[in-house]
Amino acid sequence: MNRVYNFAPGPSMLATEVLEKVQKDLLCYGSTGMSVMEMSHRSKMYLEIFNKTVADFKDVMGIPEGYKVLFLQGGATQMFATVPLNLMQGGKADYIDSGNFAHNALVEAKKYGEVVVAGSSRDDNYTYIPQYTLSPDAKYVHITTNNTIYGTRYDHVPETGDIPLVADMSSNILSEVYDVSKFGLIYAGAQKNVAPAGVTIVVVREDLLGNEAAYTPKVMSLKKMADADSMLNTPNCFGIYVAGLTFEWLKQQGGVAAMEKINIEKANLLYDFLDNSKLFKGTANAKDRSRMNVTFVTGDADLDAAFVKEAAAKGLVNLKGHRIVGGMRASIYNAMPMEGVKALVSFMKEFEAANGR
Ligand SMILES: *Cc1c(COP(=O)(O)O)cnc(C)c1O
Repeated sequence: MNRVYNFAPGPSMLATEVLEKVQKDLLCYGSTGMSVMEMSHRSKMYLEIFNKTVADFKDVMGIPEGYKVLFLQGGATQMFATVPLNLMQGGKADYIDSGNFAHNALVEAKKYGEVVVAGSSRDDNYTYIPQYTLSPDAKYVHITTNNTIYGTRYDHVPETGDIPLVADMSSNILSEVYDVSKFGLIYAGAQKNVAPAGVTIVVVREDLLGNEAAYTPKVMSLKKMADADSMLNTPNCFGIYVAGLTFEWLKQQGGVAAMEKINIEKANLLYDFLDNSKLFKGTANAKDRSRMNVTFVTGDADLDAAFVKEAAAKGLVNLKGHRIVGGMRASIYNAMPMEGVKALVSFMKEFEAANGR
Protein backbone atom coordinates (compact mmCIF):
# COMPACT_ATOMS: atom_id res chain seq x y z
CA MET A 1 0.00 0.00 0.00
CA ASN A 2 1.32 3.43 -0.97
CA ARG A 3 0.10 6.51 0.85
CA VAL A 4 -0.24 9.55 -1.38
CA TYR A 5 0.64 13.15 -0.65
CA ASN A 6 -2.82 14.52 0.02
CA PHE A 7 -3.05 18.27 -0.59
CA ALA A 8 -6.75 18.41 0.35
CA PRO A 9 -7.99 21.54 2.14
CA GLY A 10 -9.99 19.59 4.70
CA PRO A 11 -10.52 16.93 5.81
CA SER A 12 -6.82 16.63 5.22
CA MET A 13 -3.68 14.66 6.02
CA LEU A 14 -3.02 13.49 9.54
CA ALA A 15 0.48 12.63 10.75
CA THR A 16 1.38 9.02 9.88
CA GLU A 17 2.52 8.44 13.48
CA VAL A 18 -0.94 9.49 14.70
CA LEU A 19 -2.71 7.10 12.33
CA GLU A 20 -0.37 4.27 13.29
CA LYS A 21 -1.13 4.84 16.97
CA VAL A 22 -4.86 4.81 16.24
CA GLN A 23 -4.44 1.56 14.32
CA LYS A 24 -2.41 -0.05 17.08
CA ASP A 25 -4.95 0.82 19.77
CA LEU A 26 -8.07 0.42 17.68
CA LEU A 27 -9.34 -2.89 19.06
CA CYS A 28 -7.99 -2.55 22.55
CA TYR A 29 -6.93 0.75 24.11
CA GLY A 30 -4.29 0.06 26.76
CA SER A 31 -5.62 -2.64 29.07
CA THR A 32 -9.25 -1.54 28.79
CA GLY A 33 -10.30 -4.35 26.47
CA MET A 34 -12.17 -1.96 24.19
CA SER A 35 -11.77 0.68 21.52
CA VAL A 36 -11.95 4.38 22.42
CA MET A 37 -15.04 4.42 20.16
CA GLU A 38 -16.82 2.12 22.57
CA MET A 39 -16.07 3.93 25.82
CA SER A 40 -18.56 5.90 27.87
CA HIS A 41 -17.69 9.58 27.84
CA ARG A 42 -18.27 9.53 31.61
CA SER A 43 -15.91 6.60 32.24
CA LYS A 44 -12.68 7.03 34.16
CA MET A 45 -10.66 5.68 31.23
CA TYR A 46 -12.14 8.14 28.77
CA LEU A 47 -11.90 11.09 31.16
CA GLU A 48 -8.18 10.41 31.45
CA ILE A 49 -7.86 10.68 27.67
CA PHE A 50 -10.04 13.79 27.60
CA ASN A 51 -8.24 15.62 30.40
CA LYS A 52 -4.83 14.86 28.94
CA THR A 53 -6.03 16.13 25.56
CA VAL A 54 -7.17 19.43 27.10
CA ALA A 55 -3.90 19.77 29.04
CA ASP A 56 -1.75 19.01 25.99
CA PHE A 57 -3.73 21.46 23.87
CA LYS A 58 -3.27 24.21 26.48
CA ASP A 59 0.41 23.40 26.47
CA VAL A 60 0.98 23.44 22.68
CA MET A 61 -1.27 26.45 22.09
CA GLY A 62 0.17 28.37 25.06
CA ILE A 63 -3.17 29.14 26.72
CA PRO A 64 -2.85 31.50 29.68
CA GLU A 65 -4.92 31.43 32.89
CA GLY A 66 -8.47 32.70 32.57
CA TYR A 67 -9.42 30.82 29.40
CA LYS A 68 -11.66 27.77 28.93
CA VAL A 69 -10.97 25.12 26.31
CA LEU A 70 -14.01 23.38 24.83
CA PHE A 71 -14.34 20.55 22.32
CA LEU A 72 -17.71 21.02 20.66
CA GLN A 73 -19.51 19.77 17.54
CA GLY A 74 -21.12 21.47 14.55
CA GLY A 75 -17.89 22.74 13.00
CA ALA A 76 -16.83 26.30 12.38
CA THR A 77 -20.13 26.83 10.59
CA GLN A 78 -22.09 26.30 13.79
CA MET A 79 -19.72 28.75 15.51
CA PHE A 80 -20.80 31.38 12.96
CA ALA A 81 -24.10 31.36 14.93
CA THR A 82 -22.72 30.45 18.36
CA VAL A 83 -20.45 33.52 18.45
CA PRO A 84 -23.16 36.19 17.95
CA LEU A 85 -25.62 34.27 20.15
CA ASN A 86 -23.12 34.34 23.01
CA LEU A 87 -21.33 37.66 22.51
CA MET A 88 -23.52 40.13 20.64
CA GLN A 89 -25.85 40.97 23.55
CA GLY A 90 -28.25 42.93 21.36
CA GLY A 91 -25.45 45.23 20.23
CA LYS A 92 -23.30 45.29 17.13
CA ALA A 93 -20.18 43.48 15.97
CA ASP A 94 -17.39 44.29 13.51
CA TYR A 95 -16.61 41.66 10.87
CA ILE A 96 -13.64 41.78 8.53
CA ASP A 97 -14.70 40.23 5.24
CA SER A 98 -11.51 38.58 4.00
CA GLY A 99 -12.85 35.46 2.29
CA ASN A 100 -15.70 33.07 1.71
CA PHE A 101 -15.88 31.72 5.26
CA ALA A 102 -15.45 35.22 6.73
CA HIS A 103 -18.41 36.24 4.59
CA ASN A 104 -20.49 33.24 5.67
CA ALA A 105 -19.76 34.16 9.28
CA LEU A 106 -21.03 37.71 8.90
CA VAL A 107 -24.13 36.65 6.96
CA GLU A 108 -25.03 34.26 9.79
CA ALA A 109 -24.34 36.89 12.48
CA LYS A 110 -26.82 39.30 10.85
CA LYS A 111 -29.61 37.05 12.09
CA TYR A 112 -28.75 37.99 15.67
CA GLY A 113 -27.82 41.66 15.61
CA GLU A 114 -26.16 44.50 13.77
CA VAL A 115 -23.13 43.55 11.71
CA VAL A 116 -20.66 46.21 10.61
CA VAL A 117 -18.40 45.17 7.75
CA ALA A 118 -15.25 46.84 9.02
CA GLY A 119 -13.25 46.04 5.88
CA SER A 120 -13.69 43.85 2.81
CA SER A 121 -11.72 42.51 -0.15
CA ARG A 122 -14.82 40.87 -1.64
CA ASP A 123 -14.89 43.15 -4.70
CA ASP A 124 -11.33 42.10 -5.55
CA ASN A 125 -12.02 38.39 -5.33
CA TYR A 126 -10.49 38.21 -1.84
CA THR A 127 -6.93 38.20 -3.17
CA TYR A 128 -5.66 40.17 -0.17
CA ILE A 129 -6.36 40.97 3.48
CA PRO A 130 -8.38 44.21 3.48
CA GLN A 131 -7.72 47.40 5.40
CA TYR A 132 -10.28 47.94 8.14
CA THR A 133 -11.77 50.58 10.42
CA LEU A 134 -13.09 49.31 13.73
CA SER A 135 -16.15 50.63 15.59
CA PRO A 136 -15.44 52.02 19.08
CA ASP A 137 -18.61 50.41 20.49
CA ALA A 138 -18.61 46.92 18.96
CA LYS A 139 -19.25 43.94 21.24
CA TYR A 140 -16.50 42.07 19.41
CA VAL A 141 -14.39 42.06 16.24
CA HIS A 142 -14.42 38.92 14.09
CA ILE A 143 -11.53 37.89 11.83
CA THR A 144 -10.52 34.79 9.86
CA THR A 145 -6.79 34.40 10.43
CA ASN A 146 -6.24 32.23 7.34
CA ASN A 147 -8.50 32.26 4.29
CA THR A 148 -8.54 28.66 3.13
CA ILE A 149 -10.08 29.12 -0.31
CA TYR A 150 -8.16 32.19 -1.48
CA GLY A 151 -4.86 31.41 0.22
CA THR A 152 -4.39 34.55 2.29
CA ARG A 153 -3.33 35.12 5.90
CA TYR A 154 -3.16 38.07 8.29
CA ASP A 155 0.47 38.98 8.87
CA HIS A 156 -0.58 40.69 12.13
CA VAL A 157 -3.18 40.36 14.88
CA PRO A 158 -5.51 43.39 14.78
CA GLU A 159 -5.31 45.65 17.83
CA THR A 160 -8.80 45.89 19.28
CA GLY A 161 -8.06 47.38 22.71
CA ASP A 162 -10.77 46.40 25.19
CA ILE A 163 -13.04 44.98 22.50
CA PRO A 164 -12.79 41.18 22.38
CA LEU A 165 -11.14 39.81 19.25
CA VAL A 166 -12.80 36.66 17.89
CA ALA A 167 -10.88 34.52 15.40
CA ASP A 168 -11.83 31.67 13.11
CA MET A 169 -8.52 29.76 13.02
CA SER A 170 -9.90 26.67 11.31
CA SER A 171 -7.18 26.45 8.70
CA ASN A 172 -4.12 27.64 10.59
CA ILE A 173 -4.56 26.76 14.26
CA LEU A 174 -1.31 25.35 15.69
CA SER A 175 0.58 26.10 12.50
CA GLU A 176 2.14 29.26 13.92
CA VAL A 177 2.59 30.81 17.34
CA TYR A 178 -0.19 33.14 18.48
CA ASP A 179 -0.33 35.21 21.64
CA VAL A 180 -3.67 33.87 22.90
CA SER A 181 -4.02 36.74 25.39
CA LYS A 182 -4.79 39.04 22.43
CA PHE A 183 -8.00 37.09 21.72
CA GLY A 184 -11.37 36.89 23.46
CA LEU A 185 -12.40 33.77 21.58
CA ILE A 186 -10.69 31.43 19.12
CA TYR A 187 -12.45 28.62 17.28
CA ALA A 188 -11.45 26.04 14.71
CA GLY A 189 -12.92 23.01 13.02
CA ALA A 190 -10.41 20.24 13.72
CA GLN A 191 -10.44 18.64 10.27
CA LYS A 192 -7.70 20.77 8.74
CA ASN A 193 -4.81 20.67 11.15
CA VAL A 194 -5.76 18.42 14.06
CA ALA A 195 -8.18 15.51 13.76
CA PRO A 196 -11.01 13.98 11.73
CA ALA A 197 -14.07 16.18 11.11
CA GLY A 198 -16.62 16.54 13.88
CA VAL A 199 -14.63 18.31 16.59
CA THR A 200 -14.68 22.10 17.03
CA ILE A 201 -11.95 23.52 19.23
CA VAL A 202 -13.01 26.61 21.19
CA VAL A 203 -10.82 28.78 23.42
CA VAL A 204 -12.80 31.43 25.27
CA ARG A 205 -11.90 34.03 27.87
CA GLU A 206 -13.88 33.20 31.00
CA ASP A 207 -15.21 36.73 31.57
CA LEU A 208 -17.02 36.56 28.22
CA LEU A 209 -19.14 33.60 29.30
CA GLY A 210 -22.73 33.95 30.50
CA ASN A 211 -23.99 36.73 28.21
CA GLU A 212 -25.88 34.58 25.71
CA ALA A 213 -29.29 35.53 24.36
CA ALA A 214 -32.12 33.86 26.29
CA TYR A 215 -33.21 31.83 23.26
CA THR A 216 -29.73 30.34 22.70
CA PRO A 217 -30.01 26.57 22.24
CA LYS A 218 -28.55 24.85 25.28
CA VAL A 219 -25.82 23.06 23.30
CA MET A 220 -24.75 26.41 21.85
CA SER A 221 -24.39 28.16 25.19
CA LEU A 222 -20.65 28.46 25.78
CA LYS A 223 -21.28 29.04 29.49
CA LYS A 224 -23.31 25.85 29.85
CA MET A 225 -20.77 23.89 27.81
CA ALA A 226 -17.91 25.32 29.88
CA ASP A 227 -19.71 24.45 33.13
CA ALA A 228 -20.24 20.90 31.86
CA ASP A 229 -16.61 20.61 30.64
CA SER A 230 -17.82 20.14 27.01
CA MET A 231 -20.04 17.24 28.11
CA LEU A 232 -23.50 18.70 28.28
CA ASN A 233 -24.23 15.90 25.83
CA THR A 234 -22.06 13.16 24.34
CA PRO A 235 -19.01 14.75 22.71
CA ASN A 236 -17.12 13.37 19.72
CA CYS A 237 -15.09 11.07 21.96
CA PHE A 238 -13.07 9.42 19.22
CA GLY A 239 -12.29 12.65 17.36
CA ILE A 240 -11.12 14.27 20.59
CA TYR A 241 -8.87 11.26 21.24
CA VAL A 242 -7.27 11.64 17.79
CA ALA A 243 -6.83 15.38 18.46
CA GLY A 244 -4.98 14.38 21.62
CA LEU A 245 -2.65 12.15 19.62
CA THR A 246 -1.94 15.05 17.26
CA PHE A 247 -1.10 17.33 20.22
CA GLU A 248 1.33 14.67 21.51
CA TRP A 249 2.86 14.40 18.03
CA LEU A 250 3.21 18.19 17.86
CA LYS A 251 5.07 18.19 21.17
CA GLN A 252 7.42 15.53 19.82
CA GLN A 253 8.09 17.75 16.78
CA GLY A 254 9.21 20.55 19.10
CA GLY A 255 5.86 22.29 19.50
CA VAL A 256 4.21 25.01 17.48
CA ALA A 257 7.31 27.23 17.23
CA ALA A 258 9.27 24.41 15.57
CA MET A 259 6.29 23.58 13.35
CA GLU A 260 5.98 27.23 12.30
CA LYS A 261 9.58 27.23 11.16
CA ILE A 262 9.02 24.16 8.98
CA ASN A 263 5.75 25.61 7.67
CA ILE A 264 7.54 28.78 6.57
CA GLU A 265 10.18 26.68 4.79
CA LYS A 266 7.52 24.58 3.08
CA ALA A 267 5.56 27.63 1.92
CA ASN A 268 8.70 29.47 0.78
CA LEU A 269 9.76 26.52 -1.33
CA LEU A 270 6.47 26.68 -3.24
CA TYR A 271 6.24 30.47 -3.47
CA ASP A 272 9.85 30.82 -4.60
CA PHE A 273 9.14 28.37 -7.37
CA LEU A 274 5.90 30.15 -8.33
CA ASP A 275 7.61 33.55 -8.40
CA ASN A 276 10.17 32.26 -10.89
CA SER A 277 7.94 29.99 -12.95
CA LYS A 278 7.18 30.77 -16.59
CA LEU A 279 3.96 28.73 -16.45
CA PHE A 280 2.50 28.89 -12.93
CA LYS A 281 1.48 32.03 -11.09
CA GLY A 282 0.42 32.55 -7.48
CA THR A 283 -2.98 34.24 -7.09
CA ALA A 284 -2.73 35.82 -3.62
CA ASN A 285 -1.21 39.22 -2.87
CA ALA A 286 2.44 38.49 -1.95
CA LYS A 287 2.34 40.20 1.45
CA ASP A 288 -0.77 38.29 2.52
CA ARG A 289 0.14 34.82 1.29
CA SER A 290 -1.05 31.87 3.34
CA ARG A 291 1.46 29.35 4.65
CA MET A 292 -1.23 26.67 4.68
CA ASN A 293 -3.11 27.01 1.38
CA VAL A 294 -1.06 27.94 -1.67
CA THR A 295 -3.26 29.02 -4.58
CA PHE A 296 -1.98 29.19 -8.16
CA VAL A 297 -2.99 29.03 -11.82
CA THR A 298 -1.46 28.53 -15.25
CA GLY A 299 -3.87 31.01 -16.82
CA ASP A 300 -5.37 28.29 -19.00
CA ALA A 301 -8.25 26.25 -17.53
CA ASP A 302 -7.53 23.19 -19.70
CA LEU A 303 -3.88 23.19 -18.68
CA ASP A 304 -4.94 23.55 -15.01
CA ALA A 305 -7.15 20.48 -15.37
CA ALA A 306 -4.37 18.51 -17.08
CA PHE A 307 -1.97 19.44 -14.29
CA VAL A 308 -4.37 18.28 -11.55
CA LYS A 309 -4.97 15.01 -13.37
CA GLU A 310 -1.32 14.22 -14.10
CA ALA A 311 -0.25 15.18 -10.57
CA ALA A 312 -2.82 12.77 -9.13
CA ALA A 313 -1.40 9.96 -11.27
CA LYS A 314 1.94 10.66 -9.54
CA GLY A 315 0.46 10.40 -6.04
CA LEU A 316 0.03 14.17 -5.55
CA VAL A 317 -3.71 14.34 -5.00
CA ASN A 318 -6.46 16.89 -4.37
CA LEU A 319 -4.70 19.86 -5.97
CA LYS A 320 -7.82 21.25 -7.63
CA GLY A 321 -8.74 24.73 -6.43
CA HIS A 322 -12.05 25.42 -4.71
CA ARG A 323 -14.99 25.35 -7.12
CA ILE A 324 -15.67 29.08 -6.65
CA VAL A 325 -12.16 30.14 -7.72
CA GLY A 326 -10.83 27.35 -9.96
CA GLY A 327 -7.11 26.86 -10.63
CA MET A 328 -5.04 24.93 -8.12
CA ARG A 329 -4.56 24.93 -4.39
CA ALA A 330 -1.94 23.00 -2.45
CA SER A 331 -2.93 22.72 1.20
CA ILE A 332 0.21 22.09 3.19
CA TYR A 333 -0.91 21.78 6.80
CA ASN A 334 1.30 20.58 9.67
CA ALA A 335 1.04 16.93 8.67
CA MET A 336 2.30 17.52 5.11
CA PRO A 337 6.00 16.68 5.23
CA MET A 338 8.65 18.75 3.44
CA GLU A 339 9.18 15.77 1.09
CA GLY A 340 5.59 16.17 -0.12
CA VAL A 341 6.18 19.82 -1.04
CA LYS A 342 9.48 18.93 -2.70
CA ALA A 343 7.73 16.22 -4.73
CA LEU A 344 5.10 18.76 -5.80
CA VAL A 345 7.64 21.38 -6.89
CA SER A 346 9.61 18.76 -8.75
CA PHE A 347 6.49 17.65 -10.63
CA MET A 348 5.58 21.28 -11.39
CA LYS A 349 9.01 21.75 -12.97
CA GLU A 350 8.50 18.63 -15.06
CA PHE A 351 5.05 19.78 -16.16
CA GLU A 352 6.39 23.23 -17.03
CA ALA A 353 9.13 21.75 -19.23
CA ALA A 354 6.72 19.29 -20.88
CA ASN A 355 4.46 22.18 -21.78
CA GLY A 356 7.18 24.08 -23.59
CA ARG A 357 8.12 26.79 -21.08
C1 LIG B 1 -13.18 24.86 6.53
C2 LIG B 1 -13.43 26.18 7.15
C3 LIG B 1 -14.67 26.50 7.70
C4 LIG B 1 -15.84 25.55 7.66
O1 LIG B 1 -15.64 24.59 8.62
P1 LIG B 1 -16.76 23.49 9.00
O2 LIG B 1 -16.09 22.80 10.13
O3 LIG B 1 -16.95 22.65 7.78
O4 LIG B 1 -17.98 24.20 9.39
C5 LIG B 1 -14.82 27.73 8.28
N1 LIG B 1 -13.81 28.62 8.33
C6 LIG B 1 -12.61 28.35 7.80
C7 LIG B 1 -11.51 29.37 7.85
C8 LIG B 1 -12.38 27.11 7.19
O5 LIG B 1 -11.18 26.84 6.65
